[in-house]
Amino acid sequence: MAITKNSGALHPRNPHQGRYDFNALVKAMPSLNAYLQPNPTGDSTINFGDVDAVRCLNKALLAHFYQVDHWQVPAGYLCPPIPGRTDYIHYLADLLGIDKPDSNRVVHVLDIGTGANCIYPIIGSQSYGWHFVGTESDKYAAKAAQKIIDANSCLKGLVKIRDQVHNKAFFKNVVKESEYFDACVCNPPFFASMKEANAQNIRKQRNLSKISNPVSASRNFSGHKSELVCHGGELGFLKRMATESVGFCTQVGWFTSLVSNKDNIKPLRKHLSTLGAKSIVVVPMYQGQKASRFIAWQY
Ligand code: SAH
Repeated sequence: MAITKNSGALHPRNPHQGRYDFNALVKAMPSLNAYLQPNPTGDSTINFGDVDAVRCLNKALLAHFYQVDHWQVPAGYLCPPIPGRTDYIHYLADLLGIDKPDSNRVVHVLDIGTGANCIYPIIGSQSYGWHFVGTESDKYAAKAAQKIIDANSCLKGLVKIRDQVHNKAFFKNVVKESEYFDACVCNPPFFASMKEANAQNIRKQRNLSKISNPVSASRNFSGHKSELVCHGGELGFLKRMATESVGFCTQVGWFTSLVSNKDNIKPLRKHLSTLGAKSIVVVPMYQGQKASRFIAWQY
């Protein structure tokens, strides 16, 4: 396994380097034109505090880079930052020893909590030709993800959605007997309560733009409760996932998940060691000032 070290920047294979090429993006999604405005140096940009503008930018990015021309996410659900989500997929490829699409190697990935946006299956299938099963415990989100697949022929055959009927289960109910996944990916709900989620979202909005009423703006961006909140927050979620992973150790090559709060790494490592994980890897990722990471383990 060769993890590319790229401190401070996006993964070298991430196509979203540097400034957005708005000319190319408008060509891919002409409706983006209506949201363009000059930045202080006169270049084109959008208002990143405007949820409609950000959604339209995402549509353009998905059309331009991933051949996904129809991407609708229901109001109130997460509108994911594409460059950061893309980094996870490329570092996962490193972990699997893959550096380009390879038609001789069929790769299957399980995306736990694919969301209404279906973002990891989109990026992974279109970047590397990987097959995905996306699971969802929120029925409405699962339906929205299925609609995205049905609307884009490039996703059909590569991406399947399965309902997870119990939101404290991860592999049970969705991984079939004798099925094998090279890896799983996951972006867990982060907060233990809506109160925590709202407080952080308002702080974020204040930083993002000079919005006069951050409370009303935050409603647009906050994401749906199912995407934000779970019992025990991120650490509770990941400990449960790790505990259940033991029973699926022969069916998943690498268990992986984003870990937003770096303080959760230490207790997770401890928990995984107790469970008997043989390899535990933490892969750092950077986007400008923002650092994130995913944890990966196998038995
Ligand atoms: N992958 C998307 C969405 C992440 S939000 C993205 O990165 O933008 C987390 C998602 O996990 C939510 O959609 C939530 O409904 C789902 N979820 C929570 N617990 C789950 C479980 N046990 N199994 C499957 N999905 C779950």
